[in-house]
Amino acid sequence: MIRALFLSMFFVLPAAAADVSLTGRVEQGGLVVGTAQPGAKITYGKQDIPVTPDGKFLLGIGRDAPATGELLVVSSDGTKSTQKFTIAPRAWEIEKVDGVPQALVTPDPVLMEKIGAENKLMYAAYMTLELTPFFQTGFIRPAEGRKSGTFGSQRILNGSPMAAHSGLDIAGPIGTPIHAAADGIVTLSHPMMIMTGNTIVLNHGYGLETIYIHMSKILVKDGDHVKQGDVIGEIGMTGRANGPHLHFGATWFNTRIDPETLLAVLPAR
Ligand SMILES: [Zn+2]
Repeated sequence: MIRALFLSMFFVLPAAAADVSLTGRVEQGGLVVGTAQPGAKITYGKQDIPVTPDGKFLLGIGRDAPATGELLVVSSDGTKSTQKFTIAPRAWEIEKVDGVPQALVTPDPVLMEKIGAENKLMYAAYMTLELTPFFQTGFIRPAEGRKSGTFGSQRILNGSPMAAHSGLDIAGPIGTPIHAAADGIVTLSHPMMIMTGNTIVLNHGYGLETIYIHMSKILVKDGDHVKQGDVIGEIGMTGRANGPHLHFGATWFNTRIDPETLLAVLPAR
């Protein structure tokens, strides 16, 4: 069972700077939509940020990001500048989940090695650069059902504290259709991964991906182009799950962001 202790949501207005403006949610787990002068090169930490020909870019902020972020900007004439911005903190829920297969809560070394190999596949999918701005379709909630888990919550599985939860859980009967949240390309479609079960990663361009896991069925394959609303799979409980649900995740490259924030910042047109 899941117990929500508290929920806090911040909505932050643009952090304006001379060369770069930021809108969306400049907060932990947030998705930021930036505007720069066309031709600018921007770096956030070690991540080069792709910028559209008309100067738009996306930026994902990690759940545990510090209070201040910094963008390095090199304009088309070679001028370098540093743009600092304030990142609003968020408070995270604590969620207790019981009835999870114990072998997947405390995996043995053999299982750990397989999980490590699968994590590398996921990482490669997250880091695949796609320069078609599919994200411009905006995003829809991918399945109907009850919200049964939130992004960022501290998870206690079968009584053991675990890493933070990386997505939005939507509970529904096995077989409930799962729709592509936006136009995109299937960068990973993998059956029966150990932790995530039947798994899909969709690439929406400019670093933004969505993730669909624990499905009973996968209905797309690697390289497929999908349109927003296409049925790509069905709700299940494969992998580390204690009941049928879709775990819907979102990443900006390898940074997990809050899917509910994504839906709020880039709603479907
Ligand atoms: Zn989940």
